[in-house]
Amino acid sequence: MADVNRNLWAPWRMEFIRGLGEEQAERGCFLCDYWTHPERDAEHHVVWRTASAFVVMNRFPYTNGHLLIAPASHQGDYEHLSETELLDLQRLTRDAVRLLRETVKAQGFNVGVNLGHCAGAGLPDHMHVHVVPRWNGDTNYMAVLGDTRVIPDGLDSLYLTLTEKVKTLGIANE
Ligand SMILES: [Zn+2]
Repeated sequence: MADVNRNLWAPWRMEFIRGLGEEQAERGCFLCDYWTHPERDAEHHVVWRTASAFVVMNRFPYTNGHLLIAPASHQGDYEHLSETELLDLQRLTRDAVRLLRETVKAQGFNVGVNLGHCAGAGLPDHMHVHVVPRWNGDTNYMAVLGDTRVIPDGLDSLYLTLTEKVKTLGIANE
Protein backbone atom coordinates (compact mmCIF):
# COMPACT_ATOMS: atom_id res chain seq x y z
CA MET A 1 0.00 0.00 0.00
CA ALA A 2 3.00 2.29 0.27
CA ASP A 3 2.81 2.98 -3.45
CA VAL A 4 -0.83 3.94 -3.15
CA ASN A 5 -0.04 6.36 -0.36
CA ARG A 6 2.70 7.93 -2.39
CA ASN A 7 0.85 8.16 -5.67
CA LEU A 8 -2.73 8.84 -4.69
CA TRP A 9 -3.57 11.58 -2.25
CA ALA A 10 -7.22 11.35 -1.33
CA PRO A 11 -7.98 14.30 0.95
CA TRP A 12 -11.47 13.09 1.92
CA ARG A 13 -9.70 10.33 3.80
CA MET A 14 -8.78 12.89 6.47
CA GLU A 15 -12.41 12.78 7.53
CA PHE A 16 -12.00 9.05 8.00
CA ILE A 17 -8.77 9.42 9.95
CA ARG A 18 -10.13 12.20 12.18
CA GLY A 19 -13.44 10.48 12.82
CA LEU A 20 -11.99 7.06 13.43
CA GLY A 21 -11.40 7.28 17.17
CA GLU A 22 -14.84 8.70 17.72
CA GLU A 23 -16.62 6.22 15.52
CA GLN A 24 -14.88 3.17 16.94
CA ALA A 25 -15.57 4.27 20.48
CA GLU A 26 -19.25 4.71 19.69
CA ARG A 27 -19.87 1.75 17.47
CA GLY A 28 -17.14 -0.77 18.14
CA CYS A 29 -15.61 -2.47 15.11
CA PHE A 30 -17.42 -1.53 11.90
CA LEU A 31 -16.41 -4.76 10.15
CA CYS A 32 -17.94 -6.85 12.96
CA ASP A 33 -20.98 -4.60 12.83
CA TYR A 34 -21.34 -5.22 9.09
CA TRP A 35 -20.78 -8.96 9.41
CA THR A 36 -23.44 -9.40 12.07
CA HIS A 37 -26.10 -7.41 10.17
CA PRO A 38 -26.57 -9.06 6.75
CA GLU A 39 -30.01 -7.44 6.49
CA ARG A 40 -28.20 -4.10 6.19
CA ASP A 41 -25.75 -5.18 3.47
CA ALA A 42 -27.09 -2.64 0.97
CA GLU A 43 -26.73 0.22 3.43
CA HIS A 44 -23.22 -0.90 4.36
CA HIS A 45 -22.27 -1.64 0.76
CA VAL A 46 -21.39 -5.27 1.50
CA VAL A 47 -21.10 -6.67 -2.02
CA TRP A 48 -21.17 -10.37 -1.17
CA ARG A 49 -20.29 -12.84 1.59
CA THR A 50 -19.18 -16.42 2.07
CA ALA A 51 -19.56 -18.46 5.27
CA SER A 52 -16.40 -16.95 6.75
CA ALA A 53 -15.52 -13.71 4.95
CA PHE A 54 -17.04 -10.80 3.04
CA VAL A 55 -16.37 -8.05 0.51
CA VAL A 56 -17.37 -4.45 1.24
CA MET A 57 -16.83 -1.16 -0.57
CA ASN A 58 -14.49 1.21 1.25
CA ARG A 59 -16.55 4.25 2.26
CA PHE A 60 -13.44 6.39 1.89
CA PRO A 61 -11.92 4.97 -1.27
CA TYR A 62 -8.54 5.76 -2.76
CA THR A 63 -10.06 5.12 -6.16
CA ASN A 64 -13.50 4.31 -7.52
CA GLY A 65 -14.15 0.66 -6.67
CA HIS A 66 -11.75 0.32 -3.72
CA LEU A 67 -12.88 -2.88 -1.94
CA LEU A 68 -12.09 -4.37 1.46
CA ILE A 69 -12.08 -8.11 2.06
CA ALA A 70 -12.40 -9.17 5.67
CA PRO A 71 -12.69 -12.40 7.62
CA ALA A 72 -15.78 -12.81 9.78
CA SER A 73 -13.70 -13.12 12.91
CA HIS A 74 -12.29 -10.08 14.70
CA GLN A 75 -8.58 -10.84 14.35
CA GLY A 76 -5.72 -8.46 13.75
CA ASP A 77 -3.33 -10.82 12.01
CA TYR A 78 -3.10 -13.80 9.67
CA GLU A 79 -1.83 -16.13 12.38
CA HIS A 80 -5.17 -16.10 14.20
CA LEU A 81 -7.30 -16.98 11.18
CA SER A 82 -8.57 -20.47 10.44
CA GLU A 83 -7.52 -22.32 7.28
CA THR A 84 -11.02 -21.75 5.89
CA GLU A 85 -10.82 -18.01 6.50
CA LEU A 86 -7.38 -17.81 4.92
CA LEU A 87 -8.59 -19.62 1.84
CA ASP A 88 -11.74 -17.50 1.65
CA LEU A 89 -9.71 -14.27 1.83
CA GLN A 90 -7.64 -15.44 -1.12
CA ARG A 91 -10.64 -16.58 -3.13
CA LEU A 92 -12.51 -13.35 -2.47
CA THR A 93 -9.45 -11.33 -3.44
CA ARG A 94 -9.25 -13.23 -6.73
CA ASP A 95 -12.95 -12.67 -7.38
CA ALA A 96 -12.82 -8.99 -6.38
CA VAL A 97 -10.09 -8.41 -8.95
CA ARG A 98 -12.17 -10.16 -11.59
CA LEU A 99 -15.25 -8.16 -10.63
CA LEU A 100 -13.42 -4.83 -10.90
CA ARG A 101 -11.90 -5.76 -14.25
CA GLU A 102 -15.38 -6.47 -15.54
CA THR A 103 -17.12 -3.43 -14.05
CA VAL A 104 -14.85 -0.41 -13.66
CA LYS A 105 -12.46 -1.76 -16.32
CA ALA A 106 -9.47 -1.62 -13.99
CA GLN A 107 -6.15 -2.13 -15.75
CA GLY A 108 -4.12 -2.92 -12.65
CA PHE A 109 -4.51 -3.36 -8.90
CA ASN A 110 -2.85 -2.62 -5.62
CA VAL A 111 -3.67 -5.54 -3.33
CA GLY A 112 -2.39 -5.26 0.21
CA VAL A 113 -2.79 -5.56 3.94
CA ASN A 114 -1.71 -3.06 6.59
CA LEU A 115 -0.91 -4.90 9.82
CA GLY A 116 -0.62 -2.58 12.82
CA HIS A 117 -1.07 1.17 13.33
CA CYS A 118 2.48 2.00 12.29
CA ALA A 119 1.87 0.26 8.96
CA GLY A 120 -1.15 2.45 8.31
CA ALA A 121 -3.95 0.17 9.50
CA GLY A 122 -7.05 2.25 10.24
CA LEU A 123 -8.63 -0.70 12.03
CA PRO A 124 -5.68 -2.73 13.33
CA ASP A 125 -7.73 -5.22 15.37
CA HIS A 126 -9.70 -6.59 12.42
CA MET A 127 -7.45 -7.33 9.49
CA HIS A 128 -8.65 -6.78 5.93
CA VAL A 129 -7.25 -6.91 2.43
CA HIS A 130 -7.44 -3.75 0.30
CA VAL A 131 -8.11 -4.17 -3.40
CA VAL A 132 -7.53 -0.83 -5.11
CA PRO A 133 -8.24 -0.67 -8.85
CA ARG A 134 -5.80 1.30 -10.98
CA TRP A 135 -5.80 2.66 -14.51
CA ASN A 136 -3.02 3.81 -16.76
CA GLY A 137 -2.33 7.44 -15.96
CA ASP A 138 -4.38 7.47 -12.77
CA THR A 139 -1.63 9.11 -10.76
CA ASN A 140 -3.21 12.26 -12.18
CA TYR A 141 -6.36 11.33 -10.23
CA MET A 142 -5.90 14.35 -7.96
CA ALA A 143 -5.72 16.69 -10.91
CA VAL A 144 -9.03 15.36 -12.12
CA LEU A 145 -10.93 15.24 -8.84
CA GLY A 146 -9.32 18.12 -6.95
CA ASP A 147 -10.57 18.07 -3.39
CA THR A 148 -13.99 16.78 -4.33
CA ARG A 149 -15.08 14.06 -1.98
CA VAL A 150 -16.52 10.88 -3.47
CA ILE A 151 -20.20 11.46 -3.03
CA PRO A 152 -22.51 8.85 -1.44
CA ASP A 153 -24.57 8.69 -4.64
CA GLY A 154 -21.49 7.52 -6.47
CA LEU A 155 -20.98 4.72 -3.97
CA ASP A 156 -24.64 3.67 -4.15
CA SER A 157 -24.70 3.52 -7.91
CA LEU A 158 -21.43 1.59 -8.09
CA TYR A 159 -22.75 -0.76 -5.40
CA LEU A 160 -25.70 -1.66 -7.64
CA THR A 161 -23.37 -2.26 -10.58
CA LEU A 162 -21.11 -4.51 -8.50
CA THR A 163 -23.89 -6.56 -6.91
CA GLU A 164 -25.55 -7.12 -10.30
CA LYS A 165 -22.27 -8.24 -11.85
CA VAL A 166 -21.54 -10.58 -8.94
CA LYS A 167 -24.78 -12.39 -9.85
CA THR A 168 -23.96 -12.47 -13.55
CA LEU A 169 -20.48 -13.82 -12.97
CA GLY A 170 -21.76 -16.40 -10.49
CA ILE A 171 -19.05 -15.33 -8.04
CA ALA A 172 -21.27 -15.41 -4.96
CA ASN A 173 -22.31 -19.01 -5.64
CA GLU A 174 -18.84 -20.50 -5.68
ZN1 LIG B 1 -14.09 -6.69 14.09
